Amino acid sequence: MTDGPTYGFDTLQIHAGARPDPATGARQTPIYQSTAYVFRDAEHAAALFNLQEVGYIYSRLTNPTVAVLQERIATLEGGVGAVCCSSGHAAQIMALFPLMQPGCNVVASNRLYGGTVTQFSQTIKRFGWSAKFVDTDDLDAVKAAVDENTRAVFCESVANPGGYISDIEALAAIADEAGVPLIVDNTSATPYLCNPISLGATLVVHSTTKYLTGNGTVTGGCIVDSGKFDWSASDKFPSMSQPEPAYHGLKFHETFGPLAFTFHGIAVGLRDLGMTMNPQAAHYTLMGIETLSLRMERHVQNAKEIAGWLETHELVDYVTYAGLESSPYHDRVERICPKGAGGLFTVALKGGYAACVKFVENLEIFSHVANLGDARSLVIHSASTTHRQLTPEQQEAAGAGPNVVRISIGIEAAADLIADLDQALRKAHG
Ligand SMILES: *Cc1c(COP(=O)(O)O)cnc(C)c1O
Repeated sequence: MTDGPTYGFDTLQIHAGARPDPATGARQTPIYQSTAYVFRDAEHAAALFNLQEVGYIYSRLTNPTVAVLQERIATLEGGVGAVCCSSGHAAQIMALFPLMQPGCNVVASNRLYGGTVTQFSQTIKRFGWSAKFVDTDDLDAVKAAVDENTRAVFCESVANPGGYISDIEALAAIADEAGVPLIVDNTSATPYLCNPISLGATLVVHSTTKYLTGNGTVTGGCIVDSGKFDWSASDKFPSMSQPEPAYHGLKFHETFGPLAFTFHGIAVGLRDLGMTMNPQAAHYTLMGIETLSLRMERHVQNAKEIAGWLETHELVDYVTYAGLESSPYHDRVERICPKGAGGLFTVALKGGYAACVKFVENLEIFSHVANLGDARSLVIHSASTTHRQLTPEQQEAAGAGPNVVRISIGIEAAADLIADLDQALRKAHG
């Protein structure tokens, strides 16, 4: 089928990027389990390597199954192109890689997935890059943090774990003013609930490991480009606007226009960093995406009911879910994620650290795992696990204090989940 703006999300999540296999007529996208692809002749091979013709060379760069997933996610996000890679963390490095050079920085929200805080505050320093963390609700602080070496602003649409909602429009305006892209991690919201590109984001990154796959089977990541950024407006992005020494002097922006970032991500990023998604992983994620809207609707419906119930529970201090009227982010839901605030939130327990550990241990339906966005309900005590490497100040800023448990609400029966939470809360305080 041709992908047009006339098709609804529910149609595109099943069809975008896929067509019956031309060789066999197979209706479901085959898993092209092949490392290499036969060239028609020497001229064809040369054209592929010169990027004069689009096609398959070697699966570190491109693979037909992965390509279907790339087109599907790009379409759902309203972007012009996407590059899939091996994990969400790989996607973040792949997104920054063409933008940054030693000495450059990214201005990042201080409310991010714990692993991202570690990646940005520690690991990227080895590349000579750095991150400046700011409270992205304080727009003056964001503006003040942007300097001449800033090459991107980075936030999460619905921030893990607290469920905070970023004012993407306001942050996009600041990034535009500074002439740098806004990168939005849309993992927790998914394109069904939030469309960062329509709110002004340049790039969207995903951990496809979570809701897009939706069943906790494979890790993966994706970078979607809006195609809207003018890489040649300044001299800040030489990999895009100047001859790229890593690709025999090719000028990506001049040659590929709005697809420059996507082509660079494949031709240089995947070629040299090698953070490739394998076709099996792409297959699982394609299966998941077919039901994304149905699952997200149920995640939201369950999360609303359960967060509301927890909020009134005598053993609960507070619940941070933007879908609750008590949330300071409640007003942003309609503007930023009109179909709901997702399925992820935190609950603070009376009884602090000890009660949280007991609570997590006594849950039966909920699994205690370092994951989120699964069809099954998941729970984790962030302070003793995912956010353990962070300082107490960073934990608090990230909404992962010692008295807080992160809950990823699944698509099971809400009544069963409530009963499970209730018995575990009682045991935690017993
Ligand atoms: C899980 C997650 C990541 C990292 O993704 P991996 O696939 O685990 O590498 C990044 N951002 C957010 C919001 C996440 O939830």
